[in-house]
Formats: sequence, C-alpha cells, structure tokens
Amino acid sequence: MILKEGPTRGFRAYTAKHLDDLLRRAGLGDEERLRVRAVATVLPFRTNAYVVDHLIDWSAAPDDPMYRLVFPQADMLPETDVTRLAALLRDDASGAEIQAAAHAVRMRLNPHPAGQLDLNVPRAGPKPVPGMQHKYPETVLFFPKQGQTCHAYCTYCFRWAQFVGEPDLKFASDDVATLVGYLKEHPEVTGVLFTGGDPMIMGESVLRRYLEPLLGLEQLESIRIGTKSLGYWPQRFVSDPDADDTLRLFASVVEAGKNLAFMAHFSHPREMESPLVESAVSRILGTGAVIRTQAPLIRSINDDPGAWSSMWRRQLTLGMVPYYMFVERDTGPQDYFAVPLARGYEIFRDAYASVSGLCRTVRGPSMSATPGKVCVDGVTEIAGREVFVLHLIQARDPDLVGRPFFARYDPKAVWLTDLRPAFADRFPFEPAVARRLPA
Ligand code: SF4
Repeated sequence: MILKEGPTRGFRAYTAKHLDDLLRRAGLGDEERLRVRAVATVLPFRTNAYVVDHLIDWSAAPDDPMYRLVFPQADMLPETDVTRLAALLRDDASGAEIQAAAHAVRMRLNPHPAGQLDLNVPRAGPKPVPGMQHKYPETVLFFPKQGQTCHAYCTYCFRWAQFVGEPDLKFASDDVATLVGYLKEHPEVTGVLFTGGDPMIMGESVLRRYLEPLLGLEQLESIRIGTKSLGYWPQRFVSDPDADDTLRLFASVVEAGKNLAFMAHFSHPREMESPLVESAVSRILGTGAVIRTQAPLIRSINDDPGAWSSMWRRQLTLGMVPYYMFVERDTGPQDYFAVPLARGYEIFRDAYASVSGLCRTVRGPSMSATPGKVCVDGVTEIAGREVFVLHLIQARDPDLVGRPFFARYDPKAVWLTDLRPAFADRFPFEPAVARRLPA
C-alpha cells in the first residue's frame, strides 16, 4: 500500500486514494466499496497507520466501532445522492463533474451549524476578523491556519466543512497579531480556545508562534487546545521528534501563570488502552497542564452507557477530568449518527449513576446550539405532562446561564430545533415576538 509521509516523522496518513484497498480489508464487495467511495467524494476521509494497525479490530469490521469512527459508510448520505455519485465514479466521470455533484450534496448538509459564519464572527471596526469566533463573552475561538486538519477524520465530524478543500467553507487565520489586538480591545475575554481541525497537528515551532504572543496578556486566565491527538496519534507527545519541545512549550504556558487546558477528544474506550496513551497523558500532566475530556454521543460508535462509564473511569485513573458528553450536531451526516435526546439522556444517566463522584465532573448530554450549550437534565412529569428539563450551561446571553426551562417530551427529537416549549409560548432564548405553537 502506498503511504504518504505526514506532518511528523513516522506519521503515515491514508487518504481517499487508499480507501478501496482498506475497504477490501474490511471484506466489502465491489458495489459497496463503490458506494463508500461515493460518500467519500462528499465527506472527507483520512486515517493513519496507528489507527489502522492498533485501534481497529479488523475481524469485526465493518461493524467495529473504531472502524466506524473513521471509515465512511455507504448509507451515511441520502441514497439518491450516493447512487448518482457512484454512477459518476463507475463511469469515470471527470473530476470537475464529480466535484460539482459532491458540492451540491455538501450544500444540503448545513456545513456551518449554530450560526458559525454569521453570528459568531467577531469584527474589528466594520470588518469581520477571519479565523476567529466569539460566541460567549469570556471565550474566543481561534482556528490556526496550519491546524486545519487532523491525524484522522471522524466520520461524524461537525467540522467536516473545514477539510473538503472548498475555500468558501473554510475559516482559518495565521494572523496572531490580529488575535492579540482583538483580545486587548476585549478585556472581558479570559480564555482562548485553539481549535480546528486539530491544533496538535502543528509542529512545535508553529504552535509556539501562536501561543507565545498570548503569554504576556494578563487578562488571559486559560488557553485551551481542542485535540484528538491522544486518541489518533499519541506519539505526538512521546516519540515524535518535537515531543519534548512541545512539552516544554506547554510548561512555559503554565509558568506564565495560565491554565493550559488540553481538551482531549476520546470517542471510545479502546482509544485509551494503549500504553502509548498512558505515557502521553502522564507526560502532558507533568507540564502542569490539565487534561479535560469530551466527545459526542454517536449512534453505532459509543451509544451505550458501558462505553461512557468505562471511558470516564479510565480517564480518572490516568489523571484526566471528564468534562462533556455532547449531542451529535446538526450538520453533515447527523441523521445517520444521531441518538434521540431522550435516549441520550438515559445513556448519560445510566453511565453517570455507575461511576464514582470523582467522574461526575462530566456534563451532558449537551447541545452546542445557536443560543448556547443546552444540557438535557432529564425527563419528568409536571402537572400531568411529560417534559424535558433543560438548562443552558453556556449562553450568548449570560443572564440565561443555569436557569431551568422545559420542552414538551418528544421521544424522536434529536436536536434543540426539534423541541417545542412547555408551560410557555417560547424558550427563554427566543425573542418575545417569535412564536410557533401554543404551549
Ligand atoms: S478530531 Fe475533531 S475536528 Fe478532527 S475529524 Fe474528529 S471531530 Fe472533526
């Protein structure tokens, strides 16, 4: 198999051109391989030798959860779209024709959910600041240009639009001076989250160029790095040529008096089995950084309480802090991976009830929606009505944080927009004039 040298020595990526060979290994027949490749013309595919050789149980593929985490499935997109794209591939259509058809499908997949392209983009004077989002007063998200890929791509990725090679669907910046200037003008910002993609795809020297200018800003209490590198490429912190330098960089952030929050994305307990992960976690913690863990709840990958309780336990024993269970977002193949909110709540509750109080730092299931992070606290009966109890963990309007509200129970609802208010004519985050159905 042809392998591509990746951004770090020893790292080997597999991309769409390797897909057919890998699908054969999973035992898929000709027609199914063609349909999976059709899906991969729309959604990004990338994995690497560590995931392929150490995380996937090939004897269980294509049902293996780690296989499903990185390999597209033929039924992830509407059948008519897959059939059309598969026909183009079968007929050796031109690249331009395939791209045009793939683009049309992408546009129907809500590439930028939760108002990311309009509601969250900050402005310097009249001009939008590219590659940044400022949704909550105290936190700015920054998308470093060189960090807009990952060591492997998750099939459920909510940032898939960043990776498909369409410039209009991508936001990123390499302008750290603008970030620093923006922060100085906004003293209410106390935290910056580097996100992507995966910022840990960047080598130490590039990462340093982004981090160092922030260290002198007194207003900053925390710097967060959102990353799946511990799951997909733990070598990044153990044996990569710049592993030690990276750890020294982390230590310098902590020495500057900032909380360095390493936001580790783990989707399945198997990602934490390797001794390499243990070693990587211990080395990162040795710098004074804190590792908090998060992942979405995904049908066919981790939709059972046992997966979550064993993840949280393992995280606790390794010294990480369970932080969030998210609801799969309303973008890309959401229909395929979504778990209904009612079921998601049951999975969360069952897992939460079976772990010690030290694991109960975790919150969820939480939707990162347009008004903020909405947590499903439970299902109950009030005045003879079955309702969801919800609250905003984080909100555009800080006044709404932590206040409970209710929605009519709907066993099929998978996202906030499927819910209808109960005991009120609107949700607290909706404008007073807007209304849909009587309560
Ligand atoms: S690691 Fe995060 S950004 Fe990268 S593919 Fe997975 S979900 Fe998307």
